[in-house]
Amino acid sequence: MSERHAHEDEELVTERFAADSLVRPGADDLERAAEAALRPRNLDEFVGQRVVRDQLSLVLQAAKARGRAPDHVLLSGPPGLGKTTLAMIIAAELGASLRVTSGPAIQHAGDLAAVLSSLEEGEVLFLDEIHRLARPAEELLYVAMEDFRVDVVVGKGAGASAIPLALPPFTVVGATTRAGLLPAPLRDRFGFTGHLDFYADDELERVLLRSARLLDVPLEHRAAHEIASRSRGTPRIANRLLRRVRDWAEVRGDGRLTLAAARAALDVYEVDVRGLDRLDRAVLTALCTRFGGGPVGLTTLAVAVGEEPETVETVAEPFLVREGLVGRTPRGRVALPAAWAHLGLEAPREAGTLFG
Ligand code: ADP
Repeated sequence: MSERHAHEDEELVTERFAADSLVRPGADDLERAAEAALRPRNLDEFVGQRVVRDQLSLVLQAAKARGRAPDHVLLSGPPGLGKTTLAMIIAAELGASLRVTSGPAIQHAGDLAAVLSSLEEGEVLFLDEIHRLARPAEELLYVAMEDFRVDVVVGKGAGASAIPLALPPFTVVGATTRAGLLPAPLRDRFGFTGHLDFYADDELERVLLRSARLLDVPLEHRAAHEIASRSRGTPRIANRLLRRVRDWAEVRGDGRLTLAAARAALDVYEVDVRGLDRLDRAVLTALCTRFGGGPVGLTTLAVAVGEEPETVETVAEPFLVREGLVGRTPRGRVALPAAWAHLGLEAPREAGTLFG
């Protein structure tokens, strides 16, 4: 299996399990519809990511001053951090319309040729999950981005010929969760690359207070703080938890989103104080209590929690590793001291020294 295909499978697993938990970063169509009302409409409303925001603002202002389409923009970073939102903002700031498609939606190079040849001057083409474009489509895209041309193939076999079709200037905004998977020739076609990082809790608080205003729900500051701290650095998760806390407040509370309401709601949904859900905690608990903190192989660990190894590896593990709870060593997974502390267990003396 090629590296690319392995990653495609990982994403399918992540998507499948996204529906099961409140703290997975992916979104389905229903959620995307709920999100639409909460999207910042311009760079000033976009919270955090100061560096990317400043740089983009310069790129856009310079393009506007010149009256030309800006360089192509690549946005990379984990799901739910604002790549689609920024693509919409770029189009809005340029006063241009936005066309949206994605790597997996383009089955054949011809599909992409059709999209490209219908673009109007100055339009912004958002290509989500650009790392999942098939190779022939990718090659067509390089040429279109660099020379504003597509070669339309007419006929078949030996008699086939390519007729070049000139395209009006346009801007591609590519989004990827894995910039490292993009082939260098494609990466090089982007004049500007912005990397989005996880948000700090105070930034998520601002996202939440803004969303609450838009949804017209009374969110107290301390509740915003509590929800932010369980949102795994991800605005999408923060907005999702906010909606669930609102449900709780309306059904079981007095409608106000207080600290107590936030805590009670998130307990119901089994999202703990660090934003871990049931699967995350099951992995930590098995690692500490059944395997003495490891090292233990991924497959053994997965069997212990009744999941597929790739689910543990792609759904639970990235956050546990990022949080410094789990370490990956050549001999297997180990629980780091913070994992024992989080479970309220006493770590054996050698915990942590196994790491590395
Ligand atoms: P991605 O494309 O990276 O998966 P999205 O752009 O779809 O993420 O963002 C997910 C949700 O989070 C959207 O509803 C959006 O409103 C919200 N969001 C993301 N980034 C920000 C931000 N910087 N400020 C406010 N809301 C944000």
